[in-house]
Amino acid sequence: MRLVLLGPPGVGKGTQGRRLAAEHHWALISTGEILRDAVARKTSLGLEAQRCMEKGMLVPDDMMIGLVRDRSNEADADGRFVLDGFPRTVAQADALDSMLQSRGHRLDAVIGLEAPKEELVKRLSARRECPVCQRAYNRASAPPRDGRHCDDHPSVDLVQREDDAEATVRKRLEVYEKQTSPLLEYYRGQGRLREVKGLGSVDEVYRQLNRALGC
Ligand code: AMP
Repeated sequence: MRLVLLGPPGVGKGTQGRRLAAEHHWALISTGEILRDAVARKTSLGLEAQRCMEKGMLVPDDMMIGLVRDRSNEADADGRFVLDGFPRTVAQADALDSMLQSRGHRLDAVIGLEAPKEELVKRLSARRECPVCQRAYNRASAPPRDGRHCDDHPSVDLVQREDDAEATVRKRLEVYEKQTSPLLEYYRGQGRLREVKGLGSVDEVYRQLNRALGC
């Protein structure tokens, strides 16, 4: 399965992508996670990406396309991956098709996850994550067992992502509307889009996703 999860920040792409990848043994390619790791390691890509990420803006297409080209070519991603956070522009979607075509592959499915804007703002400001395993929690709806530490890393305090501050969240949603939401039409027009509501419990959304994927 070569799958793209599309949708606004906070809709649950990361949580659902992580679970799909773990349960179906697909590689998870989360461009946001790859970039945050590069920022933490202060690589040249990380330093350049950080300037865009802090402002809630997109990192340039050529950088992202190169990154996904390399990652999707690694052995674990051969034939089975879920892309979370890529493509985010029409140029990235075109590049993804060409890179897969050049390997004799194609995308099997594109899932569009949706939720109302105010729900996304609420979720993102309550979102916390484990800095070690990147597991996501929500202070209101999905807190960790002890309210503070990662369930899987009990000595590690959960943190808020810098770009989850409310002003940056609003900017990211604006950027999504302008630059990424046209991809819904792009894939719908090609008959490749399957739409799933990102509302309800994580388990419920996960069930709907599997139903939409026929697995
Ligand atoms: P995410 O974790 O997917 O919300 O991504 C966090 C940030 O990383 C975004 O707000 C962008 O600044 C950057 N980013 C992640 N994926 C992409 C992409 N495909 N194109 C451009 N920027 C990206």
